[in-house]
Amino acid sequence: MVSLKFIGEKDKNALRASPSVELEDISEPNLMRDVFPYTEVPRMVFEDKRVPMDMPSEIFITDTTFRDGQQGHKPYTVDQIVRLFEYLHQLGGPKGIIRQSEFFLYSKKDKLAVEACRKKGFEFPQVTGWIRAHKEDFKLVKQMELKETGILTSASDYHIFLKLKWTRKKAVENYLDVARAAIDAEIVPRCHFEDVTRADVYGFAVPLARKLMELQEESGMRVKIRLCDTLGFGVENEYAALPRSVSKLVYTMVHDAGVPKEQLEWHGHNDFYRMIACAVSAWLHGCAGINGTLLGYGERTGNTPIEALCIEYAQLTGETNGMDLSVITDIAKYFRQDIKAKVARTKPFVGSEFNLTRAGIHADGLLKNEEIYNIFDTGRILKRPIQVAITDKSGVAGIVYKINELFEPGKKVDKKTAGIAEMYESIHQQYLDGRTTAISEDELVSLVMEFMPHVLLCEYSCRYPCRYEVSPKE
Ligand SMILES: [Zn+2]
Repeated sequence: MVSLKFIGEKDKNALRASPSVELEDISEPNLMRDVFPYTEVPRMVFEDKRVPMDMPSEIFITDTTFRDGQQGHKPYTVDQIVRLFEYLHQLGGPKGIIRQSEFFLYSKKDKLAVEACRKKGFEFPQVTGWIRAHKEDFKLVKQMELKETGILTSASDYHIFLKLKWTRKKAVENYLDVARAAIDAEIVPRCHFEDVTRADVYGFAVPLARKLMELQEESGMRVKIRLCDTLGFGVENEYAALPRSVSKLVYTMVHDAGVPKEQLEWHGHNDFYRMIACAVSAWLHGCAGINGTLLGYGERTGNTPIEALCIEYAQLTGETNGMDLSVITDIAKYFRQDIKAKVARTKPFVGSEFNLTRAGIHADGLLKNEEIYNIFDTGRILKRPIQVAITDKSGVAGIVYKINELFEPGKKVDKKTAGIAEMYESIHQQYLDGRTTAISEDELVSLVMEFMPHVLLCEYSCRYPCRYEVSPKE
């Protein structure tokens, strides 16, 4: 018999009516083995309590493509960074729905990229930095004349005890020191609560946030907090218990620590396939900013994709508010063609087949009304009209269209291109032999290599086979 694990009022991780805000300076790390046994998959724990929906009046997106995003991708060149920065500016629009973008500041290349992006003179995204919690690192931020920087302020005992070899008390002291140093240098500190979904929320995260809010009060300078779901443990279900509950983490920061909603950000990862649901939960429960990367590139399974957040923003608010969603398609193309990134063909909004239907022999039904098989008017909104897979109904014209769309050759293929008639015959024969499924992208690549290998030559300068790097005919 299957049963969920529920916790009661007195459990350490239960949402508290009147929370203590004193730091619990324990001598041994609390690794929460009941939730994170490690030798088994982690557990989801629930309680019979939830917090109200409380979406901020203004929500926005922040970018970490060039910081966290580069950790899961080959390094971008300065030119690529500048181009992507321009795209972020266009996508986010004049109201700054994509508000900020953060940069490393350590290498010469990092600095060149920051300078080149700032030279663009865009109001949005604002350029911010990212440093370790070392006071010396502020020199870098100051040198680059940045107004805000992220600071690593890890929140779980996994990081405090096992990685940094500190106690909780020492961690709080060090983090406050660094935040103070930022304020002294007139730089807004954005404290990244790393691994907060494994942190002792009432024993560490809330007391730390409280201290940071006291610092804000004393100094008159804003202190921001980013909740980092470093390993993707966040759970969006409203009855989930702390520390995995996204809504309750946001709630405790706003109500128990007094952090203004517009100074809160959520940063998620996709280890358990939950990053979008968690991001939306954070927005719905009082966190104004969601942090992500273009196409979700980032550590391990990736970060929350910015383009998906733009679509979620539009779904939640019912408006685009100045964003140009069609730029998503330009960005995807840039990643494929210039950065030579492998973009999974099924990746929502950007993959080559995200709106392709394999309705197969019933594809003609689609031609009657495209709404039957498309999520929205992808042609109008994303410059990506619905696509139909190749079948016996496609005809030579359909195959030509598909090859041009898939290979994006410099010189377009047409009905007279050598090999196309033979290729059509071969496909036609497969259906005469009883095939009922549509022709896949891989098969089409093989067919082009067999019947029209010249299309892959320089004259056509197509994006294959660099994307495939395989020869299908062994
Ligand atoms: Zn991260």
